[in-house]
Amino acid sequence: MNVVVCAKQIPDPAAPGELDPNTKTLKREGKLILDDSDAYGVEMGLQLADKAGGGEVTLVSMAPHDEVSGLRTALAMGAAKAILISDDALQGSDSLATAKVLAAAIKRAEPDLVLTATESTDGYTGLLPAQLAELLGWPSITFAKHIEVTDGKAKVQRQTEEGYDEVEAPLPAIVSVTAGVVEPRYPSFKGIMAAKNKPVDQVTVADLGLSADDVGWKGARQEITDVVPAEERKAGEIVEDEGDAHERIVQFLEQLKVI
Ligand SMILES: Cc1cc2nc3c(=O)[nH]c(=O)nc-3n(C[C@H](O)[C@H](O)[C@H](O)COP(=O)(O)OP(=O)(O)OC[C@H]3O[C@@H](n4cnc5c(N)ncnc54)[C@H](O)[C@@H]3O)c2cc1C
Repeated sequence: MNVVVCAKQIPDPAAPGELDPNTKTLKREGKLILDDSDAYGVEMGLQLADKAGGGEVTLVSMAPHDEVSGLRTALAMGAAKAILISDDALQGSDSLATAKVLAAAIKRAEPDLVLTATESTDGYTGLLPAQLAELLGWPSITFAKHIEVTDGKAKVQRQTEEGYDEVEAPLPAIVSVTAGVVEPRYPSFKGIMAAKNKPVDQVTVADLGLSADDVGWKGARQEITDVVPAEERKAGEIVEDEGDAHERIVQFLEQLKVI
């Protein structure tokens, strides 16, 4: 079974992020790493291909400056190859433009199944998985906490607030996985060495048959009008126990309609 995993490469979250003052988008000039959220998709893809007894995992990533550092991490985990779309014309691409680019690259890989994370870590919209499904005309299952593939179908336990729903869709399908769905493996030394020689197919917007007018700033349907710091968390109320603390806590919880 051939699985495509969408692998976003993001600025290291350990370093303070910086916004471009003009475009208000995240600066992505330095080395980019594999988004932690996508390590779950990579692991899930590897396990599903293993279980099927054949096939491989292909990574698809759109990133600036021909960046492959994050892809090498996923290749070291065991993915077989990658498609990287990197092109100056992509600067300013919003979620829909990103989905158009990834969808075109995914078509090239002819997968049975596409895995994404539920949302990325750096500047997430959480829109991309459903946009991919719409553009490809394939079924979409979101928030997967467990996936099995049998008889040409993806059978998924879909996380809900109360527990999970069991849903299934014919392949090919797009499934977004939640964090914690599996334990991503650490790349072994052998894996890291092997990853250096694994193929990364670098393509441009034109190679994918897309027009530069549909992507980048020109094609963006979203505009970032303002970015403001998140509101600081207010100090909580401290309940000193003068014999009636339990009553005041009950009152407080009743006010919140928690009890
Ligand atoms: C107006 C605007 C301008 C922007 N300009 C830029 C820019 O100049 N440069 C820039 O780098 N970004 C830019 N962005 C952000 C970029 O478009 C996002 O990467 C894109 O919107 C993807 O959406 P997301 O991260 O919100 O995806 P989500 O829907 O949160 O992601 C879900 C999953 O989709 C997959 N995925 C998402 N993005 C990628 C990717 N690129 N490659 C592979 N898999 C992916 C991952 O599995 C991810 O976990 C801009 C966004 C907007 C709205």
